[in-house]
Amino acid sequence: MAKKSLLAERLDAIRERMATAASRAKRDPAEVTLIAVTKTAGPETIREAVQLGVTDLAESRVQQLLQRAAQTQEMGQRRRVHGDDAKDTPAAPRWHMIGHLQRNKVKQILPLIHCVHTIDSLRLAEEIDVAAAKVDRRMAVMMQVNASEESQKFGVAVGAALHLGEQIATMPNLQLVGLMTMAENSDDEKTIRNAFRRTRELFEEMKWQKIGGTNFRHLSMGMSNDFEYAIEEGATLVRIGSALFGASTADDVNDN
Ligand SMILES: *Cc1c(COP(=O)(O)O)cnc(C)c1O
Repeated sequence: MAKKSLLAERLDAIRERMATAASRAKRDPAEVTLIAVTKTAGPETIREAVQLGVTDLAESRVQQLLQRAAQTQEMGQRRRVHGDDAKDTPAAPRWHMIGHLQRNKVKQILPLIHCVHTIDSLRLAEEIDVAAAKVDRRMAVMMQVNASEESQKFGVAVGAALHLGEQIATMPNLQLVGLMTMAENSDDEKTIRNAFRRTRELFEEMKWQKIGGTNFRHLSMGMSNDFEYAIEEGATLVRIGSALFGASTADDVNDN
């Protein structure tokens, strides 16, 4: 048997750790989806990840997202054109926008993405609502919650989130599918878990109030250093970059 690539090994290890964390919390591992964050990955590596079964990819910057989503769209087109001949070619992956989004960039990325995780203001929500109408889509969005309450961080304050969520949920071309958060960059397990737990509690409260309806079902939380805690606290989407692709972009500079 051929030796596994480094990426295949890392992917196996992460999936294993995800499943173990889910079991610890008595959750079905199938409830948690891996989103591969491609910041440090070149086009070949991204292609390989998709071949290995990664269905969801994410970027935090608009330029990178545009460039990489265009590359993976070609994968999907090849599959359509060649039909059965290409049945080993996976479907084009879904792209998630996980970084702060400026309103003037919305129109550009909207046609390429599956979900925006980072709505943190009414104005941004309105901009996406208008842009989605123009391309005849109902855009899946999540609200970013600043659960660790660090002053410099993006995201809506926990105390303001419910009200903003209600407003987003009434917009005709948006579908509020969940909440996203980032824990503090900390070594303290309790601090990290607190941020996830606070977001989970807000999520439960919004579900209780039927904000977003049955589509409101995702918690996007957990990164390379804290995804196991996040899964134990209820995450349905984990956003993993460096644990999968490495921390450095050094081998990527000539790659795209
Ligand atoms: C970069 C990034 C990630 C992935 O971080 P890693 O620590 O490399 O796994 C997840 N979420 C957001 C919002 C990011 O910007």
